[in-house]
Amino acid sequence: MRRAQIASGLSAVRERVRLACVSAGRPDEVDLVVVTKTFPATDVDILADLGVSDIGENRDQEARAKRAALSGESLLRWHMLGQLQRNKVSSIARWADAVDSVDRADVVAALGRAAAGLGRRIDVLIQVSLDSAARTDRGGVAASGAVDLAAAVAAEPGLHLKGVMGVAPFPGDPAEAFARLSSVSASVRDRWPDAECMSAGMSGDLEAAIAAGATQVRIGGAILGRRGVVQ
Ligand SMILES: *Cc1c(COP(=O)(O)O)cnc(C)c1O
Repeated sequence: MRRAQIASGLSAVRERVRLACVSAGRPDEVDLVVVTKTFPATDVDILADLGVSDIGENRDQEARAKRAALSGESLLRWHMLGQLQRNKVSSIARWADAVDSVDRADVVAALGRAAAGLGRRIDVLIQVSLDSAARTDRGGVAASGAVDLAAAVAAEPGLHLKGVMGVAPFPGDPAEAFARLSSVSASVRDRWPDAECMSAGMSGDLEAAIAAGATQVRIGGAILGRRGVVQ
C-alpha cells in the first residue's frame, strides 16, 4: 500500500532529523519540505493526510497540474525549488507560497511585480551556489553576491526575504559546502535578523546539513522512493 510506504518513509526521515538534532545539540525544530517532483498528486494527498504541511516542486507546469488534481482544497504550502525561467515567473507567482531558488536580480524584479499584481506576498530564499566556479548548471548566486540579491528581495513589497538555500555538490564534501552556506546565512541575518531560514539537506545529506545549522530540509527519495520508478 502506497500510504503505508509513505508513512514509513516519513517516520524514518523524522527520526533521522530528530537524531541529527540530538547529535548537533539543537532543539528538534527543523522544518520538512517533502519534494514531490515526478510523483503523482495522489501522493500529495497522502502526505497532507499524514500531516505534512510543505510540498516542494521544481517545474511550473507539473506543480500547477498537481495542485489542480488534489482531491480537496488543502492548507498545504507550496515551494518552488527549481531553476527559474523569467517567462514562467508570473505563472509560478500564482501557485507558489515560497520560491526557494531565487538566484538572479531579473527574477527578483519579475517575481516581485507578479506577486504585487496578484496582491500576494511570496516567501523567498536566496539560492547560493555551493559548486566550484567550474559548475554553474545547478543554479545559485555566488556567495559574494548573496547579500546584494537579498537586498533586492527585501526592497520588493510583494516578496518576503526568509533566508538562504543551497544544494551540496555531488560528489563532494557536504559538510564543507554547508559550512559555506552557513556563513552566507550569518551575513544575511546580520542585516535582516528575521531571515533565519537556512534550507539545506536532501535525502543523502540531511545529517550534515543539520550539523551545519539547517533550519529546513528538503526530502524526496527517502520518503517517496526512487524517482522514475513506478510506485
Ligand atoms: C529533488 C530536490 C530535492 C530532494 O532530493 P532527494 O535527494 O530526493 O531528497 C531537494 N532539493 C532540491 C532543490 C531538489 O531539486
